[in-house]
Amino acid sequence: MEKIVSLSKRRGFVFQSAEIYGGFRSTYDYGPLGILMLRNVRNAWWRSMVQTRRDVVGLEASILTTPKIWEASGHLANFTDPLVDCRNCKERWREDQIAGVCPKCGSTDLTESRAFNMMFKTFVGPVEDDAAVAYLRPETAQGMFVDFKNVMQSSRLKPPFGIAQIGKSFRNEITPGNFVFRTREFEQMEMEFFVPPAEADHWFEYWYKERFNWYLDLGIAPEKIRIRPHEKEELSHYSAGTVDVEFDFPWGWGELEGIANRTDFDLNAHAEGSGEKLEYFDQQTGEPYVPYVIEPAAGATRAMMAFLLAAYDEDVVSNEKRVVLRLDPRLAPYSIAVLPLSKKPELSELSGKVFSLLAGRYSTDYDEVQSIGKRYRRQDEVGTPLCVTIDFVSLTDNAVTVRNRDTTEQVRISIDELMAYVGGVLGF
Ligand code: ATP
Repeated sequence: MEKIVSLSKRRGFVFQSAEIYGGFRSTYDYGPLGILMLRNVRNAWWRSMVQTRRDVVGLEASILTTPKIWEASGHLANFTDPLVDCRNCKERWREDQIAGVCPKCGSTDLTESRAFNMMFKTFVGPVEDDAAVAYLRPETAQGMFVDFKNVMQSSRLKPPFGIAQIGKSFRNEITPGNFVFRTREFEQMEMEFFVPPAEADHWFEYWYKERFNWYLDLGIAPEKIRIRPHEKEELSHYSAGTVDVEFDFPWGWGELEGIANRTDFDLNAHAEGSGEKLEYFDQQTGEPYVPYVIEPAAGATRAMMAFLLAAYDEDVVSNEKRVVLRLDPRLAPYSIAVLPLSKKPELSELSGKVFSLLAGRYSTDYDEVQSIGKRYRRQDEVGTPLCVTIDFVSLTDNAVTVRNRDTTEQVRISIDELMAYVGGVLGF
């Protein structure tokens, strides 16, 4: 864990926010490599959940919206954590996470727990009175329920179909921590899949298997993830069944994603709250019905952390220890790095050309500083799958050396065939 946190800072994945001011309560900034990787996580999700499917479409709902949504959804009443104070050291904890003992001082003298609503409150417009109260969304899902009718009508889809969204969510967590695992501002990737009620069990099973396989496909080892069905007592008020996809974090198993059968709870709640009918008219039976919803809800920032942890490796190359991120090429910040053997101007022109050729299609780094061995190590450490070296012979044979991150093997490839070769290795 410390290794990932320090690598993240050193190489520009994740910085503590406002570090020069001493930081600000578990908030983080994603640096030059972090945004590349986070974008890759989002893209991999979007590709599998929307782009390659005919039955799912996308949405980007506004974050500021009417508080009526949170009243109808039950968040104003129920989106709470049980908060307890330690009477000895005054620290605050989530009751369900500490088993009656203060983790800081060991005291068992704790206050009664009280419900603490985790939604951030703000004011819209110049007057801070009750009429102007708004909440930052604690999940992206409600946007899909509220826009259900507009999306269904404009896209001419009928159940089973889904609406997907990626975006920021905000929760005033009592105990954020473990780096970006639990933060107050984070990013979610959620999809609401609307189905005929009789098909809900089938689609629930379908989606949790799909989602589990998504992590496997992107390189998380099978022994590092598992599926955990929720116990009855654990289920949210709207859920008829939930399973979590969990990852083996350095401190133990933790949730990566929850897949829930939300029944018709949300559409009914918003139909009641808004007075609009939120149902699908089934032409075949001549009857309207309210679809059930199967929801896979993942965290983009949390997933990125899991991918980093899963990819971290140390091995020995030419009798030297190396750190290597064995990231799937689809997730690596840079797909490829162009490394001129020397900074001499003779090589600059050709190297610039090779960079432009590759950068038009792939996320490409260009590095001509320090020895080639050091530059390979720098790329290994951030997971770049391929390095291309341009040397003096390249000027006459129009070929370059391509080195593979995982095997460290090198092959000589003609520049004319470079794009095809790279595409073959990366798989895109
Ligand atoms: P937890 O029990 O850990 O608080 P949750 O069950 O409330 O999480 P969901 O509401 O199901 O979480 O949210 C879906 C996903 O969003 C989670 O699986 C996680 O990946 C992500 N997520 C939720 N809260 C946070 C947070 N505070 N920081 C980062 N990611 C989060």
